[in-house]
Amino acid sequence: KRGTLREKPLRNHHPWIFSGAIARVENANDGDTVEVYDAAGEWLARASYNSRSQIAARVWTFEREEKIDREFFKRRLRRALEIRESVGVNSRSPLRAFRWVNAESDGLPGIFIDSYADFIVAQFLTLGAELHKKEVVESLLEIFDSARVDTPPSEGGAGGGLRGIYERGDVDVRKKEGLQAVTGVLYGAEPPDKIEIEENGLRFLVDVKRGHKTGFYLDQRLNRRRAAPYLRGEVLNAFAYTGGFGIYAAQNPDTRVVNLDASASSLDLARENFSLNGMDARAEFLVADAFQKLREFRAEGRRFDSIVLDPPKFASSQAQLERALRGYKDINLLAFQLLRPGGTLVTFSCSGLVSADLFQKVIFGAARDAAREGLIVEKLLQAPDHPISLAFPESEYLKGLIVRVL
Ligand code: SAH
Repeated sequence: KRGTLREKPLRNHHPWIFSGAIARVENANDGDTVEVYDAAGEWLARASYNSRSQIAARVWTFEREEKIDREFFKRRLRRALEIRESVGVNSRSPLRAFRWVNAESDGLPGIFIDSYADFIVAQFLTLGAELHKKEVVESLLEIFDSARVDTPPSEGGAGGGLRGIYERGDVDVRKKEGLQAVTGVLYGAEPPDKIEIEENGLRFLVDVKRGHKTGFYLDQRLNRRRAAPYLRGEVLNAFAYTGGFGIYAAQNPDTRVVNLDASASSLDLARENFSLNGMDARAEFLVADAFQKLREFRAEGRRFDSIVLDPPKFASSQAQLERALRGYKDINLLAFQLLRPGGTLVTFSCSGLVSADLFQKVIFGAARDAAREGLIVEKLLQAPDHPISLAFPESEYLKGLIVRVL
């Protein structure tokens, strides 16, 4: 009975096998591709094994006939690209910027692949992913060679082949897998310090070698566009990173944007991005801790017409959840207090452990404590090139609310 219970997630095609669910391991070394059987000996899946991780096996395939070879990776990458094209990601624009592979959601646990103009930035975050790097890189090259992205503009294509593939493995989660941090060129040329991309008609410089994640928060692409019409008057863009929501706000010549971030280097790039879009005159940049700065604004009686709150992940584990919720409550309460009547709050959480329902409750609590009435006018989630697998609800992490204050 216990066995049956533990097998259920796998039968439902959830790709993670926790060490506690495993009764017996035979002839398997860390990194091996293993066959997974149920308690009665029936074949369930083919997975990559790593005894060092709490998630001891991650499923590559639930199809018995499917071998884990180069063709497998090529099929998965092709399927992922087709999905991107079907959801309107402009993968053929010369200044393209999109997530090509979103790990488990694309049937490739541990593998993230982002495309920035003529460079690809990849992350291999699990042992299984690490050991198949070569097949992935070779498949990317083959797909690029045959894809329409390679057709020069003179022949009706977008032009711009692939100049290089860069690895960003300087990520803490690799440690849990027994892997060292690693960065560098996997193919072709090293990316320049700044790559120019286009997003919804706006231009951004991306530092793929030193920026957060692979350089840019691609998951917010649609949300930035959805939020833009609500950003009016005096805008506070808190957790601004390299400008993001602020640049969208400044499309309207009547807005003034205060970009606030704890990272000076992120705001340096934000400043360049405002210039690149001809919007310098509409922006201000403040290097400060948002929790402190918002309190200062409150004390000074400073008010805003619109506020964006896009903080980093506050909760990476269940143990951090309480504290994370207090953090969200605190920052949103301050924001409600700083908003003029009729103003708009655009607020996000990218903590997967905080569900959309729970997040909404926290925002409600913050509004109530600030004695404000709010109306949710839009509910937001991650962009469609970060798809959410029905079988893997953990792949849903980004949620946002646009709240109009009465
Ligand atoms: N909205 C951005 C992405 C924000 S990422 C976009 O659309 O591109 C989160 C940002 O929060 C990072 O730039 C990080 O430097 C910043 N940050 C983290 N903790 C902070 C704090 N306590 N105060 C201010 N900024 C903080």
